[in-house]
Amino acid sequence: MERVRDLSELPKAHLHLHFTGSMRPSTLLELADKHGVRLPDVLTGALGRGESPKLRATDERGWFRFQRLYDAARSCLRDADDIRRLVREAAEEDLRDGSKWLEIQVDPTSYAPRLGGLIPALEIILDAVDTTVRDTGIGMRVLVAANRMRHPLDARTLARLAVRYADRGIVGFGLSNDERRGMARDFDRAFAIAREGGLLSAPHGGELTGPASVRDCLDDLEAHRIGHGVRAAEDPRLLKRLADRGVTCEVCPASNVALGVYEKPEDVPLRTLFEAGVPMALGADDPLLFGSRLAAQYEIARHHHGFTDPELAELARQSIRASAASADTKAGLLSDVDAWLTA
Ligand SMILES: [Zn+2]
Repeated sequence: MERVRDLSELPKAHLHLHFTGSMRPSTLLELADKHGVRLPDVLTGALGRGESPKLRATDERGWFRFQRLYDAARSCLRDADDIRRLVREAAEEDLRDGSKWLEIQVDPTSYAPRLGGLIPALEIILDAVDTTVRDTGIGMRVLVAANRMRHPLDARTLARLAVRYADRGIVGFGLSNDERRGMARDFDRAFAIAREGGLLSAPHGGELTGPASVRDCLDDLEAHRIGHGVRAAEDPRLLKRLADRGVTCEVCPASNVALGVYEKPEDVPLRTLFEAGVPMALGADDPLLFGSRLAAQYEIARHHHGFTDPELAELARQSIRASAASADTKAGLLSDVDAWLTA
């Protein structure tokens, strides 16, 4: 009889997790209380019931609604203690799910006004990550993400800042928010600065818009990884290109379903990408709003797509290989994956 291995013990890397979106629901409610912030009823109601709010972001109004909830949650992060708590708890949740390496994504612009400016905000975040790494033993790094709703010059400023702090734990540069707004190429200079500074290029694409947005990430931003990228599945030639180049898609199945990109977990094209040889790193995206964390994404692969344990181990290896961890760290984690499989 085949034994079921525990997916929360499968060693893996978590490469797609947003800062505010990583928060525990209970922490959000406590911080709202602490700072006297009135959260939208739809958010407190759902989180109070242990549910996630109903979202549908496939049209612009739905995306706006999602962003409004995200902004409300972010407005509860007001001081350095809040930031330290968020970072520590994100690591604790990840460790519980078998993550040994976490790359958390943040746009420091959003936190700058309350934390004394862009540079102090980033330093508070990086210090919190340092402390968390020391205290918990997790490997943790930061991706700075520009917001495509803002001006490309802001993105360049962020890219320069990210490069300046590369030796303090910043490993990549991203681009987030509504893919329907602006063109990837508007941000090509910012990404060139980031790449020349040794950072990974990891923009969002192929979530709300189709394969063309993934191609833009490859052509205009020379992406090493794609945030989501799932809709590449609609274009076999693009899949081949991703596979040939070894570009990893940071696929977030629960997020896709929560935002209505796909109707049901079984509709997320995990099999299509896997069989095409496109490396994937499963991620939770915004567990605060989508209601599930990292191990649950692997559960979706197992239960809705029939991934066997050797295949799940391969998914974990793909996440580790695509991370910014050192070669030594990767080798250690890869052998831990083998141990999980043979145990
Ligand atoms: Zn994302």
